[in-house]
Amino acid sequence: MKSELIDLILCTACGGTYVLDGSKLLCSNCGQTILLINGIPVFTPVAGEIHPSEKLVRGPETGTPWRKANWQFLQTQLAALPSHAQILDVGAGRGDFAALLDRFQTIALDIYPYPEVNLVCDLTQINPFRPAQFDAVVLMNVLEHVYATHSLLARLAELLKPGGILIIAIPFLVKLHQTPVDFVRFTHYALERFAGEHGLVCESLEGYYDPLFLLSEGIGNIKNAYLPGLPRTKRIGARLLLSGIQSLSNSLQILLGPGAARPPQEMRSQAPTGYQIVYRKTIS
Ligand SMILES: [Zn+2]
Repeated sequence: MKSELIDLILCTACGGTYVLDGSKLLCSNCGQTILLINGIPVFTPVAGEIHPSEKLVRGPETGTPWRKANWQFLQTQLAALPSHAQILDVGAGRGDFAALLDRFQTIALDIYPYPEVNLVCDLTQINPFRPAQFDAVVLMNVLEHVYATHSLLARLAELLKPGGILIIAIPFLVKLHQTPVDFVRFTHYALERFAGEHGLVCESLEGYYDPLFLLSEGIGNIKNAYLPGLPRTKRIGARLLLSGIQSLSNSLQILLGPGAARPPQEMRSQAPTGYQIVYRKTIS
């Protein structure tokens, strides 16, 4: 178990302190026990419907344009934090952003016991953390997988220190993924309003606008969802036409340029791939 964790958590039954007792955490006050799986404390049962994601190599230049934008966004937000900053990475999964987060005091949390996480907990159900002890909470491509949006945001607001930041990336036009654990897409009008309901201020909100995104999604969708069902001759014809569209799309990309993160108010496009947001907890 990550040793720093024990100072950050309290017994979920009585608020007492835990001690590490072999393969479990034991509340020194009420005797509640929390089991460790491969050294990871598990506070909430692991849902059977989760299909664990595989480990992918992530970096500033890997994955989709949206993923690359996310990397740059997170890197920029973290640059302002001191190295002793305490960070909570919620929905950390396979540690996609661990290379950016490792230089801080980071706790990686997920609802599935991936080897990369430090504790398993569904924060919408239960909270093992002491309040107001994180300088930043990171929620990268996670909020769309949470059914109880406002329970989570309220919880994360509690966990932030006054003045702390909640760093969010959330897709808008990205197709269904990690089903059936994919629940919502929000417009920026909703995302701006959410902050105020939880004692947060929406400090920055940008859409990621990629002129070719919908076209390439469309091509991918036809390839994966429609081609396999066609009779062979039609499939060959359709595949040829699609590769023609693909090469036209590549030429168009050269003329239009790459995607960029911009405030929605500055854009004519109503079709962002997703949003990148910073909420700050007010100092009261
Ligand atoms: Zn207890």
